[in-house]
This record gives sequence, C-alpha cells and structure tokens, in this order.
Amino acid sequence: MKIIEQKGMYKEFPRCGKPHARTTHYCPGCGHGIVNKLVAECCAEMGLQDRTIFVDPVGCGVFTYYYWDAAHISAAHGRASAAATGAARARPDAVTIAYQGDGDLGAIGFNNAFQAASRGEKFGCIFINNSLYGMTGGQMAPTTLEGEKTTTTPFGRDPALTGHPLHVCEVFNQLQAPVYIARVSVADTKRIMQAREAIRRVFEIQRDHKGYALLEILAPCPTNFGMSPQKAAEFCMNEMEKEFPLGVVRDTEKGVAGVEPVKHPESQALAVKSVPRFPTCMELFATPDGTEAPPVEDDPAVPERRFKFAGYGGQGILSLGICVAEAARLEKRHTLWFPSYGPEQRGGSASCSVVVSGMPIGSPTVEHPDVLVCMNQPSYERFAKDVKPGGVIIVDATVPLAVEPPQGVKLYRVPAIKMAEDFGVPKAANTMMLAALRAFKATGLKDDSLETALCASFKKKPQLIEKNRELLRRAEEELKS
Ligand code: SF4
Repeated sequence: MKIIEQKGMYKEFPRCGKPHARTTHYCPGCGHGIVNKLVAECCAEMGLQDRTIFVDPVGCGVFTYYYWDAAHISAAHGRASAAATGAARARPDAVTIAYQGDGDLGAIGFNNAFQAASRGEKFGCIFINNSLYGMTGGQMAPTTLEGEKTTTTPFGRDPALTGHPLHVCEVFNQLQAPVYIARVSVADTKRIMQAREAIRRVFEIQRDHKGYALLEILAPCPTNFGMSPQKAAEFCMNEMEKEFPLGVVRDTEKGVAGVEPVKHPESQALAVKSVPRFPTCMELFATPDGTEAPPVEDDPAVPERRFKFAGYGGQGILSLGICVAEAARLEKRHTLWFPSYGPEQRGGSASCSVVVSGMPIGSPTVEHPDVLVCMNQPSYERFAKDVKPGGVIIVDATVPLAVEPPQGVKLYRVPAIKMAEDFGVPKAANTMMLAALRAFKATGLKDDSLETALCASFKKKPQLIEKNRELLRRAEEELKS
C-alpha cells in the first residue's frame, strides 16, 4: 500500500508504544482531525516548521505532539495560553501557536487566555469549540448550547441553572490588543476551505510578529453528540452556528477570503436571554418523564461494596459499571458510578468505579475494590494488587497473569471476549462479564435487578434488548456448567 505523506506531520504516530501507527486517536468524524491536518499543512507550506512552537492542551487535542512535526510544549490543563506567553516572550523569533479546546480555554483556562489576549501577547490561539468536554466524556462546557443534552445536563442545558453559552470571540473582542479574532467551522468542504484560510492568517500574523490572534473553530464531536459524523456536522451547521455565527470579528489589517464579516453587536451577543428561575429539588431529581426518582432506603444491614471495572474504551466497561449501579438503584440502595479514562474516547484505557451501600456513601473513588473486573492486561496489572482480601477478580481469559492476585482474593478467568465472538456478537463481551458477575454471585444484587438494568441500558436500541437478555442467560449457563 502506498503511504501518502501528510505535509507538516510526522511519517508515523507511534502512540502507546504502537510502532508504525498511521492513524490518529481521534474518533471518526471528529473536527480535531480536520483541523490537525489544516494546521500541519499551513505550517509546512509557509515554511515555518523550524520556527514553530506548538503549545498543546489537555483535552482531545492533547496528542498533537505525536502528529505535528515542529517543536512542542505540553501545557497543564487550561494553561496553554500561559505557556505560550512564556514561549513567545523567550523566543520572539519563533511562531508560537496555542491549541486549546472549549473546556481548556473556555472554562479552567479562561482567565489565562483572556489576560494573554488583553496584554497582546505575540502568539496565535487556535480554539476548538465542540460545545462540550470531549475527552472526559461529554460534560457541559461553557460553550454548550441552551437545551443541549450532555452527560451533566441530561435534560438539556438550562440557563437558569448553568448560565448561557460563552461567546469567546465576542468577549475577547472587548479587548484592545488582539490583532485578529475570527470564528470558522470545519463542518463541510466550503467551511473547511475558509478555515484553512483563517489558519493561514493566524500563522501570517505570528510570522510577521504582529500580535495576538484568536481563531475559534466550530468542530463536530460525533461521539459525545451521540450522532453519526454526518449528523454531527449538520448539528454544527444548523445549531451551533445559530449561537456562534461564523465570520471575522476583527482583523486590524484585512479580512479573510470567503468569510463574510458579520456584525456582532454587543447587545445581541451578550444579552441575557431569560430571567433565571431556580428549579425546586423535586424538579431537579425528577426523571425525564416527570415522575420522581425512586426513593433510596437506608439499610445499615447492607454492607458497602466497592467495584472497579477496567479495560479499553469501546469494550463497554463504563456501561457494565452503569448496569451494576442501576441494578443497585432498582433495589433502592445508595450507589455512585464514577468514570475515568485516558485521552482517547475509543481504544484508550477506560475504567469506572461503582459503590453500592445500604447507607449514604462518603466517596465515589475506589482504591481497594471488593470486586475487580478486567478486560485487558494493563488494567489487570494496575488494579489487581489493590483488591481487598476476600475480594474477587474476574479477568478476561486472554489476559496473561503477570501479577499474582493478593492472598485471599478469588480469581476467575472468563473467556468473555471469545464467548461473545462465538455467540456472533463480539461487542457483547461486557454482557458476558455481567453473566460472570451473576454466575459467581459477586455483586450482592439480585439476578433480576441485574437483568432489568441490562435491558434498561439498551432502551435507545430496543432491538438489542432480547438478544442481550438471551446472551446473558446463555453465558451464565456455560459459566456455571
Ligand atoms: S470525543 Fe469528540 S472531540 Fe474527542 S476525539 Fe472523539 S469526536 Fe473528537
């Protein structure tokens, strides 16, 4: 196969110890991938690679240092603009570009970015707005649209509770120093070409040491929008652009070809759109159909049980944890579910902690689980040693046991991945693990609750409910035999 080299990018992206890798970590249809290509092309075509310092963020864009062939600084979360300030001042001959997302720049790092813009630091900031926190699982960001559903606004963002979307370009436009402020999109081909011109303009301004430039880029995040790449791109164009109009907000020298300047009257951009009204507690904890959530009942006789589920993203580890937490909720137990994952939404490490108790729970973190479910080798090596004496480890049979389980811990090797493949549903390895939890009585929860919770987890894909119910029962029978 002929490998086409991408201008401005390394020939290989050897992430996670994978040699000769040519694929990025971005999900299919992600706007970051398009922007990464455009940035690399502009940098290379303008002959600036040897002069460019990229300041990389924390967020889905974290791995740009694996892709762009130039100098890099990896900044702490939200601090890319602060690090870029240092780089630009220390190396005034360089072209310094900070790359930040809307959680990184719009939330935790907002003041850093805003003050750097206010001082007119000589760097360019490329700011990706996909309306939520991508890497950490789709939580609300300052840029989340009104009514948009995220994992922390499951009923849609309500301005009375969480404020209005933050218009970063318009806020920065209140400052005197910036040379260039613009908003573009990468949702379709025409917009991508406009984005390319705008990125080029950011590089030009830095090449010529003109001053601070901010380029906001609306980008689809199909994974957290829960949409196909095409629908996610349409969401960008049809919904995000209503809130965040495209155009050059300021260019002290010239415009950008193909991008029509739009008027941003302060009163329109910053107007309060509704009078805050705080919801009652009953409204807050109501289920989407308006009924109250089932009450939790304190029961000191039910001991606290702590679970850790770990594997790769895409193996259904987080859903497995949700099933156990949901089963506990159905039994009116106190329960918490707490996810944790690396920068990749798919294929990277993923784990979650679940705590179930008859009494209120102090902390959602699980350092010493009673039950550990592992779907891959790194998780087994990382967590097995921490399982409590008397606890249980259920590990996929493909995982080599390089580490001895602690004394007094029961270990079950379950061919979950193979069973799922043999049943013709490779994605159902997590359902096999749920069957193992039932077969080995590892959860302290009723079989019925676990099955109901499994079915509930497919409520958006009802056609899969019966199949998974059948798989659960078949797998359990095999494991018991
Ligand atoms: S989670 Fe969203 S922003 Fe992050 S890589 Fe996937 S699609 Fe892109």
